[in-house]
Amino acid sequence: MTDPATGRPAVSAATVDRWSAVIAVVHTAHGLPNPAAHPALTELLRLVRSARPGRKLISRPLTGAEYRRLLAALPPDTWPEAVTRRRDRLVLTLARGTGLGPDRLLDLSLAAVRQTDAPALRVDTEPEALLLAPAAAPLECPVCAFVQWREILDIADRGGYALLEKEYAALPSRTIGDAAHTCAVLTAPVRDCAAPLVRRLRRGGAVGQARPRPRAVNNLVHAYAERAGVPLRGLSAFSLRTDTAP
Ligand SMILES: [Zn+2]
Repeated sequence: MTDPATGRPAVSAATVDRWSAVIAVVHTAHGLPNPAAHPALTELLRLVRSARPGRKLISRPLTGAEYRRLLAALPPDTWPEAVTRRRDRLVLTLARGTGLGPDRLLDLSLAAVRQTDAPALRVDTEPEALLLAPAAAPLECPVCAFVQWREILDIADRGGYALLEKEYAALPSRTIGDAAHTCAVLTAPVRDCAAPLVRRLRRGGAVGQARPRPRAVNNLVHAYAERAGVPLRGLSAFSLRTDTAP
């Protein structure tokens, strides 16, 4: 019932309903018990009906505690791991805060995300802009994650790997760490640029120009869950959404 390539239902809920109605009629006509009324099947049908397009059928939301464990498993903020740390922290906190699926999240351009006065983060997306307030804990704050990633990205876009390696140690956010909010002190300059905000990374801290593949968010959730000892079963890129979290 699930397409192995996409993880999505291979047939619609309405089609399954029609099939089970036919099966029920045929069995009843022959004086047999209706297999479509079996509790295991009615539970499965309920799951199929509740699956929204684009969401994996068996995807489960990360609890708040599990989400914090994923963030705690990020690499250290030292060279060159800081590049991966800051990119991945932005992906995790932004997906959590906006609820955007992986494709739309990775499609965001530099121009589409900026700090506003609250201090908050404005994300221009269809059908309307989203405003993200800073989180209580600095590590979970999408605005801090944005500022810290932009420090890295702006240098990489200006002078590439060599300049980033040279200037990393002197980044203003390095003196703040995760004990306080970087977003309360630093503001990333607005860049009206169509280049993607989230980039593919190469080994050793080099930042590419292209956006990662949509599957990257899924892989990222799995990698940090594994490192944090969070059970992988049912986890996908969509597990970062809070709309279904208990
Ligand atoms: Zn913050």
